[in-house]
Amino acid sequence: MSFPTQKTDAQWHAVLQEKGAEPGAYQITRHAATERPYTGKYEQHWADGSYHCICCGAKLFASGTKFDAGCGWPSFSQAIPGTIREIIDHSHGMTRTETVCAECGAHLGHVFEDGPQPTGLRYCMNSASLDFTPSTS
Ligand SMILES: [Zn+2]
Repeated sequence: MSFPTQKTDAQWHAVLQEKGAEPGAYQITRHAATERPYTGKYEQHWADGSYHCICCGAKLFASGTKFDAGCGWPSFSQAIPGTIREIIDHSHGMTRTETVCAECGAHLGHVFEDGPQPTGLRYCMNSASLDFTPSTS
């Protein structure tokens, strides 16, 4: 699978360091690791604004779609259309739908079908994959 934005591992390390990303961000975004629940800085973060890919800056979620799923990770009921690519993931003996950034392929988390209406979706994201920008209005 190829993505519009391609960088080497060393380049991604440099990008994440420059942005002040969380220590686990590289392993999570580039190697599909998962942060420990209830540790992410955005898990209980309710300011108005938007959430962007920590790697390439693509806007992925608006704050209005964020909800408290009680699962320990930032959760959203809807992604901004076209920004996320879904991949069926059979790891850990489960079948889940992995979500990656459509622009750079960064691992974001998984999407489950037990979210609130009207979408019924729960985008369960790693906080370390996200970069919040406050709304200016
Ligand atoms: Zn990205």
